[in-house]
Amino acid sequence: MQSMIVDLRSDTVTKPSPAMLAAMMSAKVGDDVYGEDETVLELEAKTADIFGMECGLFCPSGTMTNQIAIKCFTNPLDEVIADETAHVYRYEGGGIAFNSAASVRLLYGDRGRLTPELIEPAINPDNIHNPVSSLVVLENTVNRGGGSYYYLSDIEPIYHLCKLKGLKLHLDGARIFNALVETGDDPKAYGELFDGISVCLSKGLGAPVGSVLLGRKETIKKAKRIRKVLGGGMRQAGFLAAAGIYALDNNVDRLKEDHANARAIGEALLALPYVASVMPVDTNIVIFRLDESQNAEHFVEKLAHHGIKCNTFGKQMVRFVTHLDVSTTMIDHVIETLKKIY
Ligand SMILES: *Cc1c(COP(=O)(O)O)cnc(C)c1O
Repeated sequence: MQSMIVDLRSDTVTKPSPAMLAAMMSAKVGDDVYGEDETVLELEAKTADIFGMECGLFCPSGTMTNQIAIKCFTNPLDEVIADETAHVYRYEGGGIAFNSAASVRLLYGDRGRLTPELIEPAINPDNIHNPVSSLVVLENTVNRGGGSYYYLSDIEPIYHLCKLKGLKLHLDGARIFNALVETGDDPKAYGELFDGISVCLSKGLGAPVGSVLLGRKETIKKAKRIRKVLGGGMRQAGFLAAAGIYALDNNVDRLKEDHANARAIGEALLALPYVASVMPVDTNIVIFRLDESQNAEHFVEKLAHHGIKCNTFGKQMVRFVTHLDVSTTMIDHVIETLKKIY
């Protein structure tokens, strides 16, 4: 047990399995800036097909797919509507201002989830004093919401509102498959509701690099230009795309195991005297609050001495994220350690 390292900082820390590496090594590649990498084209078409979208664009990161989508769907001086926890606002370095010269209207949803009732009053009237509201961004699952998720039926009324008011709708689906394995919703229906969808391959799906932006043909044409300007046009990227194809074929259904592991940790935490509260564990993210006697930074250091890596998540808060490189044996070690450290 002494040498076991359990990395719960994020689901981005996964490393390619031997089978994924084998798929990467045998990929057929070409220059993707010339549109000649057949593995990239296959990944883009495959991902688009899963979500009932016309086209896909392979990019180096989810930050890039989100930022490209925002640039595609806004004009300078427009306003983007998002929850205050949104990754596009909190964790993309202020990119909305830098890349799109747009402002952001922040809403306070239920664990990051928006409703038409919250969105409608935030849509500006057609008045020269106000920025033009042009885009709503949803996140599914919501990272800062502790992995909370939307059902398709929650999104439909938001889609109708956006359509009625002439706003575009983008999905930050960095962890969309975590939502889908819980809801059982048909991913194809997502293509009907969203103008853009960003899907990460390098989170729970276990690929080393990459995200795909999905949209209509004309959106992706524009997106390709923006990707080039941002320096995201990659050459023989098929080696990376092959990992993405492997991930989509092999690592989606198993996300349920990550959710079960996260729930096991969540349940154990509830019984501990030094834990003040635990957010509901809906998918693969566990966020909990330590009681007033504890210091989150010390707590994280203490766990590190036992080979468990995790992050603080604000004052008194700690976050664990489960993923495909975390086994049930590791989970048992985490739970035993949590029980004995105080
Ligand atoms: C990780 C993540 C992204 C994209 O992050 P990259 O590290 O740029 O790939 C986007 N949105 C959410 C909610 C995320 O968790």
